[in-house]
Amino acid sequence: MADSNFLTEHNARHVWHPMAHPAEMRANPPVIISGGEGTEIIDIDGKRLLDGVGGLWNVNLGYSCDPVKQAITAQLNELPYYSAFRGTTNGPLIELSVALAEFFAPDGMVRSFFTSGGSDSVETALRLARQFHKLNGQAERTKFVSLKKGYHGTHFGGASVNGNQNFRRAYEPLLPGTIHLAAPYAYRNPFNTDDPKVIAECIVQQFADEIAFHGADTIAALIMEPVLGAGGVIVPHEGLMPSLRSLCDKHGILLIADEVITAFGRTGAWSGSRLWGVKPDLMCTAKAITNGYFPFGAVMIGSRVADVFEADRTAMGSIGHGYTYSGHPVGAAAAIACLAETIKKDLPSNAAARGVELFDGLEALKERYPLVGDVRGMGLMCAMELVSNREDKTPVGKDTVAKVYKGAYEAGVMVRTSGNNIILSPTLIITSQDVARILEALQAGLKAAG
Ligand code: PLP
Repeated sequence: MADSNFLTEHNARHVWHPMAHPAEMRANPPVIISGGEGTEIIDIDGKRLLDGVGGLWNVNLGYSCDPVKQAITAQLNELPYYSAFRGTTNGPLIELSVALAEFFAPDGMVRSFFTSGGSDSVETALRLARQFHKLNGQAERTKFVSLKKGYHGTHFGGASVNGNQNFRRAYEPLLPGTIHLAAPYAYRNPFNTDDPKVIAECIVQQFADEIAFHGADTIAALIMEPVLGAGGVIVPHEGLMPSLRSLCDKHGILLIADEVITAFGRTGAWSGSRLWGVKPDLMCTAKAITNGYFPFGAVMIGSRVADVFEADRTAMGSIGHGYTYSGHPVGAAAAIACLAETIKKDLPSNAAARGVELFDGLEALKERYPLVGDVRGMGLMCAMELVSNREDKTPVGKDTVAKVYKGAYEAGVMVRTSGNNIILSPTLIITSQDVARILEALQAGLKAAG
C-alpha cells in the first residue's frame, strides 16, 4: 500500500466523504484504517485500536469471523452475481429468506425483500406502505409519521422522515405530509419532565392529536427505531412502542420498525421490536445482517401486508421497485453465515451482559466528570452526552468533543462523535476486559478535555 502521506494527500484532494465537508477533511485528515482483527482495528501506522464503534454499528461479529469470510469466498467462486428480478433467483437468497422468516417469526415476519443497505430498506418499506393502502382502496393514505431525532437513512423518503434537520435542510422540499412527533429524550424535551413514562404518554397523546388533526385516512405509516441510534442513543420508555402500535391498530396505520441498527442482537434482544414486545408490519434491516462484510439489507414483511399484495391480481399488486443487487448471492451467503454465527454465539446475551457493565462504567464516569451530562444505553448501544454546564445543560463545543475523541484514540480506543455525544457501539463479541479498556480510554479522553 502507498505510504500514509501519499494517501492522506490524495484523500484530501479526491475523496468526498459522507456527512463531512471536504475542507474539514483537509484540516483534520481522517484516520486511515488498514486492518481489522477480532474486536480491534489497525491504523496505517500500525496502531491497534479497540473498535468502540463496531465499524458503523454493523460489525457485530468482529473482524475475524472466518465462517462469514469463507461463505463469501465460496459464493464468489460458485456464482458471484445474478439478478433476482422476475425470471431468475438463486439458492443463497432462497435459503436466506427461509432462515430470516424463522429468525423473525416471533416478530410476525413472513417474507423478505432484499436491498443493498439501510437507506434502501427504508425506501422500500415506505413504498410498500403506500402501495398496501392503494391496494386496500385507500389511496389517500400517503402521509408518514416519525420521531424527531430518528434517523432513517439518506434517500428522499428516508430523509423526509428523518428527525434531524442536518440531514434534511439542504434537500428540501422533501416528501410532503411528513409528521414528526417529539423524541423520547428524557434529558431534553418540550414536556418539562425527565420521567420517561410521562414523556412516552405525551408522545402517544401527540400521535393521537396528529391523527385527529390530519385524519387517520391520510396516514400510511408510522416509522420508528425501537431504540434511536444516530440521534444519540435515545432509549424510550418500555411503554412507548406498544402504545404507538395500539394507536396504529386502532386507526389502520402501518407500523414500520426501522431496525437497521437494532436487529440481530445489539440491544440485548434478538430484535428491537422483541425488546418491547411489539409486532411491526414491516421491519427494515441492514448493517449487521452481513456483519459489514458486504453491502446488504432486507425488509421483513408481516403477513398483514404480504397477504394484501398476494390477494391482488391487478398490475398494482406487483411491486414496481427493486435494486440490481436485491438478493445478491454473495450478500445472501454472507447473511446466512452471520445469522448462524449470531445464533451460535448467542450475541444478544453478551450484548446485554457487557452492555450493563459499559453502562455502569459510564455512570461512574458521570459521577466523576462534570463534563458528562447524561449517559444512555441499551445493550451495546450507549451514548455519553457532554455539557459545559450541568445546570443549564449547555452542549460542549466541537473542540471539547474532539479532545475526548483524541484522548480515547491515544489510549487505544476508537469512539464515534455525533454533535456533543460520544457514541459507543462496539462489536458484540467484546469481553469484560474490553469494556474496561473502553472505559479507561474514555476516562483518559475526559481528563484530556479538562
Ligand atoms: N436506518 C437507521 C436506523 C440507520 O441507523 C441507518 C444508518 O445508520 C439507516 C437507516 C441507513 O442505512 P445505510 O447507511 O446502510 O443506508
